[in-house]
Order: sequence, then C-alpha cells, then structure tokens
Amino acid sequence: MEARKAVVVIIISLFILSACGRESLPNAYVEGSDFQYMQMNDIGEYMDIQKGEGCYYLRHGDFIYYLDETTNKILPLCNKVDCLHDKETQQIRKEKCNAYVADNNEFCKGISYCNGFIYCLEATLWFDEGNTQKLYRISADGAKKELAYQFSDDRWIQRWGIHRDIFYYVEKKYMEKEKDGQSELIDAVALKAIDLKDIVKRPMTIFSITSDEAEGPVIAHIQCYGNYIYYLLDAATTLESDGEMHRFTKTYIYDLNKRENKELTISKRQEGVQVIGCCLWNGRLLIKAVSGYEQDYFKPAVMYAADLDGSNIEVCMENIQMGHTFSCDEEYLYKTDIAMVELSQLGFFEYDKDDETYWVYDKELKLVDTYMLPSDITLPVGAPRPGTSECMYLIYDDSENPENWGVLKWDKSGIGSYNGKPIEMETIPYEG
Ligand SMILES: [Zn+2]
Repeated sequence: MEARKAVVVIIISLFILSACGRESLPNAYVEGSDFQYMQMNDIGEYMDIQKGEGCYYLRHGDFIYYLDETTNKILPLCNKVDCLHDKETQQIRKEKCNAYVADNNEFCKGISYCNGFIYCLEATLWFDEGNTQKLYRISADGAKKELAYQFSDDRWIQRWGIHRDIFYYVEKKYMEKEKDGQSELIDAVALKAIDLKDIVKRPMTIFSITSDEAEGPVIAHIQCYGNYIYYLLDAATTLESDGEMHRFTKTYIYDLNKRENKELTISKRQEGVQVIGCCLWNGRLLIKAVSGYEQDYFKPAVMYAADLDGSNIEVCMENIQMGHTFSCDEEYLYKTDIAMVELSQLGFFEYDKDDETYWVYDKELKLVDTYMLPSDITLPVGAPRPGTSECMYLIYDDSENPENWGVLKWDKSGIGSYNGKPIEMETIPYEG
C-alpha cells in the first residue's frame, strides 16, 4: 500500500513538474534566458558581448573570452590545463581549445548567452561545398564545448540569436526555378527557429520570401523580447506610379504564442508611411516612421510607442530626424546622430563631426543628459551597443598592433552630469 502511495505521489509530482515546464514565461525581459537586446546596436548585425552570471563574455577574433568583473581580467573561455588557447600555433591543437571558434564569416561573429551556455556559430564560407555550418555551445565555466546543431546542407546563416533556448536565424539559399522553359537561380531567404531543448531538432519556418516575390530580399535586425520576435524585411519593388524600382523596409512581429506574423503599421489610413524599425524600451515598442520612400536623413520623423504586439500606437516623440538612431537599456533611451556623421564622412552630405551627440531620456521620456564619446576611440560602424543600465562595455582593437586589444568600460552612474561633455571610459587591456 505504501509503495502504491509513493508511486502515486511521484506520478503527481512529475505531472506538476511537466506542467510548470510548459507554463509560458513573462512577457518581459528575463535575465539569463532572454535575448540581450541591450547588447545589440542600431545596425543589428550581431552581438559580440553578452552578460553572464557575475561576468561578461566576449568574442574577439577566433576565440571567446570572459571578463571577470571583480578582477577586471579578460581570459579565454577554456579551463583545459594543457591548452595554450589563443597562443597555440598548430591549427589541430587550436581547434581542441574550448574557447576556439573559426571566424571567417562577417555575419556570424556573434555570441549569445542562454541558461548557462554561450552559443556561437562556426561559420564556413557559404560557397564551401560539403562543409556545413555548426552551432556550438560552451558551458559558462569553459569546461565543456559541444555541438548543439549542425546544418545538413549548404546554406548561409546571416543573422541569429538565442531566446529562451530557441535558436532563431536567417538563412539564405539559392534555388533553381523553371521560367519560360529555362532554369534560373533565385534567392530564398527565411527566418527560422529551432527548439534546442528538443531531442530531434527540426527547423520551423517563421517567414520566407524569394527574389521572385521581391527584388533582393534581406531579413535583418532580429530582436526577441518576451513573447515576440521582431525583424525587418528590406527589399525592392517596382511602383506602378513611376515604373521605377524603389527599396522599402517593413517591420514584422511574430507572436510566439499564437504563431502568427503581422506587419507593424502605424495606421491603415496613412498611405505611404514607412515604418523603418523598432526599438524595445521600458516594456514597449518604440517605432520610427517616415513618410514616402525617400531615404532623406534630414527629413523630420516621428517616434511612436506601442504595446509589444504593435497595438495601441501613440505619438511619443516629435521633431526627430530620420537620421537619428535609437537604442536602449532597461533604464534609459539613447538617441544619436552618429549615422549622419558616418554618412558625411563617406561624402553623402555635410554634417559636422563636432555636432555628434548622444541624448539620454528616462522612463518618462524626459531628457536627462547629453554626452559625447571620447574623441580618441575608434569603433565599428553604428552607434555603440548600449549595454546594461549600469555599464557599457565596448571591444577595442589597435589596427596597427592586433595583439593590443581589450574592452572599454563606461560606468553609467555618471548619467545626469555630462551636459554634452565626453564620457570617461576605463581601459581593460587583454593581457594574454
Ligand atoms: Zn583552451
């Protein structure tokens, strides 16, 4: 009788445990399991810094490192005692290092932290036949590296991220299509998802499009937040009005519970309004929209706020320029004109570098400070990743001396006191 009771108790406990496992997670940012939207910049290609438990992880060159916040030391993410890590010169031995990840594809440099693992995509060149891409994961302490998923054939993974143990990625393939009795190659791009907890991992298509449907389609800037995935479609279409081809950008929202895609629009009545991206802030979506198809960076634009599913849209900031870009952490919203400075340096138009500014807004959208970046630092294209509300880390490189690299740290407790002056950044060099 007692044994029978025990079995019943075990069965009930298992039922409760499995029911808990199926419960949906909050429709908000959950640290540790969620996509770290604050570590992505306005261009949205990849994330090279991720927050873990008490440390940060970074990808630099062919290796993944961790930064211990208490000692300010950067070390390779590998605890093998007989390993030389990034000092190893023999390729075969180098590949055995837990921190090693081949770095030969511009789009796949990112890392993503989720539930105790750092994920990285080992990228082969897309035209390298028979050599398919692999998703690896390294345990947070560097003790173990394992294959999480391997693609079965040649396809080019362009952008990706992990959110709540699901791998979201954009893949590009070339497909043959019969047209007028002739075979031609068309581009096929798709946003897909793989649940990494499943024993048999099957890709699920969220959105797909071919170059037959829209010219030169690109799916970009994937962001995950709560129960939603946001992404941009950039492509071209021929307008009936002038018979010419125009590029357009659309933003889509994918509802993880309903498994539904919808295009984010400001209003069905407003013809020609083009939503050119969104930023996640304070549990809401911030949407920048401009009228018409012209890419004019000085054109006035309006910022709207909406619920996470794109509903309840309201104007929240007027008199911004289309060239302004936005990013956010959990506390502040940052606006910058850095895109206009970068384009003027490429000769597109005149814009004074001395005017480069960052505006900081609080949760009530009240302007609380303005600042500049230190003039002696060189960063990749785009606004810097904002980082957490406590600090921003940026990886720096010395192009003349590649051995000299490390991270710059901005302690954000100074927000409110800069008044347009440059922020101070602490240099943490990699000491090897
Ligand atoms: Zn190693």
